[in-house]
Amino acid sequence: MEKNRTIGIVGLGLIGGSMAVDLRARGFASRLIGTDRNPLNAEAACRLGLVDQAVPLEDCIDESDIIIVSVPVSAAGEIIQTVLDTFKSKALLGKIVMDVCSTKSQIAGRLKYHPFRRRYVASHPMAGTEHSGPWAALPGLFDGRACIIADQEESDPAAVRDVEELYRALNMRIVYMSSDSHDVHTAYVSHLSHVTSFALALTVLDKERDEKHIFDLASGGFSSTVRLAKSNADMWVPIFMQNRDNLLQVMDTYIEKMQAFRKAMAEYDEDKVRELIEKANRIRKIIR
Ligand code: NAP
Repeated sequence: MEKNRTIGIVGLGLIGGSMAVDLRARGFASRLIGTDRNPLNAEAACRLGLVDQAVPLEDCIDESDIIIVSVPVSAAGEIIQTVLDTFKSKALLGKIVMDVCSTKSQIAGRLKYHPFRRRYVASHPMAGTEHSGPWAALPGLFDGRACIIADQEESDPAAVRDVEELYRALNMRIVYMSSDSHDVHTAYVSHLSHVTSFALALTVLDKERDEKHIFDLASGGFSSTVRLAKSNADMWVPIFMQNRDNLLQVMDTYIEKMQAFRKAMAEYDEDKVRELIEKANRIRKIIR
């Protein structure tokens, strides 16, 4: 693909906006356009300079070399299908559509038999914050983080190469796996931590009805564990629903671990509590 690329972003929020900032700054895109169902977000994305212009979806498809779908997972499948349908009906053969969605299997199932499936590259950049919307876009958000490309054999090799180049411009480390493996792994490393953070916030909010004490006493540890509970329900309800089966299994394991702690503490079993903590400390070898 030539260097004078137009990139179209569907969903001008945290992820789409952060990609736009660095794709422009690092010379991957010469022009950025976008579309959003929310006119306030579209207008803000233009005012913040994330995109040059907000356009209807059809123009975004017509004018872009790569279309990045960055909307909640519940809306993404239909939008990618619409983009692929347009490729087919208008014979827009050289274009690519990619997504950044946090779940992969359900979307993959929906698109599997589309005649233009090979022009779609499924991906998930593993970086984010608890904030949403174009105002949350951050330069450098993806630097040094992992990005999953899923089911790469289902896409044209040239399309995969262009998407790899895009992620290299974002300074990401690319990992390849199937959609199903992606959903199993992200249930552990991302989705469970959101459930536990929401549950922790609910626990503390139930106990401390006077919010002032929470703010007065909140330590670094509490704030960092509960940070994810500020994340938006529109984003997370569909992720939990689409990855429900994997997440239920992981939550069962988590509840077992909580029960092991509870039992050891109820029985004043200091050795067992120490053993559980020391086992958990092994995570240091994996994540610094
Ligand atoms: P976000 O900040 O809420 O932005 C999403 C944008 O898409 C919003 O402006 C939203 O408008 C708009 N939108 C929603 N439905 C739409 C539709 N049908 N058509 C056009 N625009 C629509 O969300 P985000 O954090 O950037 O997440 C986008 C995608 O990235 C999701 O698939 C998510 O799973 C994935 N992801 C997120 C993270 C993270 O940490 N947040 C990390 C990696 C990947 P409204 O404001 O009206 O809803």
